[in-house]
Amino acid sequence: MRAIQITQTGGPEVLALREVPTPTPGPGEALIQIEACGVNFIDVYFREGRYPAQLPFIPGQEAAGTVIALGPDVGAVKIGDRVAWCGVSGTYAEFAVAPVSKLIAIPEDISARQAAAAMLQGMTAHYLAHSTYAIQRGDDVLIHAGAGGVGLLLTQMAKQRGARVLTTVSTEEKAALARKAGADEMILYTQEDFAAKVRELTGGKGVPVVYDSVGKTTFDGSLACLRPRGVMVLYGGSSGAVPPFDLIQLSTKGSLYVTRPTLKDYAATREELELRAGDVLRWVAQGSLKLRLEHSYPLAEAAQAHRDLEARKTTGKVLLIP
Ligand code: NDP
Repeated sequence: MRAIQITQTGGPEVLALREVPTPTPGPGEALIQIEACGVNFIDVYFREGRYPAQLPFIPGQEAAGTVIALGPDVGAVKIGDRVAWCGVSGTYAEFAVAPVSKLIAIPEDISARQAAAAMLQGMTAHYLAHSTYAIQRGDDVLIHAGAGGVGLLLTQMAKQRGARVLTTVSTEEKAALARKAGADEMILYTQEDFAAKVRELTGGKGVPVVYDSVGKTTFDGSLACLRPRGVMVLYGGSSGAVPPFDLIQLSTKGSLYVTRPTLKDYAATREELELRAGDVLRWVAQGSLKLRLEHSYPLAEAAQAHRDLEARKTTGKVLLIP
């Protein structure tokens, strides 16, 4: 099969298309022919070596397609089923093997591209808005990178829960997309001091929660946006990792909380996975959760997809099509 295989970590150029053996499903696993594969920022961390993986490896951990073979001891799915999954590496390929315990049936009225786009970022937005900090009606919330993949979905879910959404973006075009997703206040954090703006927009009070996926360049400012006992949700580091931090700051800035959550722990059981994926796919089918699918690349152009994602040129979801 054709797949992107990384033999050494580094820049986007290490994403080379190769001919590799098609994997064989083991016990409890299915072989899936991939129709669409999701690109996520975590793929950049693995490509760079920021997150460790044994070489060589096929990157990517989100896809949708059709089951074409089954290993032993598989009861829950059958050949021909349309499925989507995330959190299993090896999806930048024509075929991938995944444990059936991770597979979610794609509802009839949803395309493979929509399913591949919704799983990882949709369930992330879901746990952030409902579980890490359960947004309450009337809350002011700050969401960084509001026109990004997670950002657009999290904004819509925060609005569904009755929040007033303050969001940061780097350009006017992205501000318009964030507004369309329901954001109330857009802050161009490349041009103005976002922490000062958040204070101004909240009458000096600050916000009860900041959702920060940008990390290195925003972390200190994000803490300054919180009201006493506010929650700092650091869920990514698109601008780089946050350096070591003196915990006493949490006291001096108002008895703050910091958490560094990850989807794996918020979709830890089959029940929780089904609940989050079920909500997300149902909302997409109903049209109450809108996906932005403007950035699809052939599998062979994975390197360009990464370049564009890292250069902040993409908005919403980035897909690879085998
Ligand atoms: P995005 O589509 O949000 O892309 C990243 C965005 O970050 C850019 O578009 C850009 O928006 C902003 N950004 C700010 N500074 C930089 C920089 N120096 N370089 C690149 N981008 C920058 O990506 P995803 O939706 O895939 O992921 C968003 C974040 O969420 C990532 O950090 C990812 O790791 C994290 N994540 C965490 C999960 C978890 O469970 N913890 C699960 C899924 C994602 P702008 O131009 O507006 O500044």
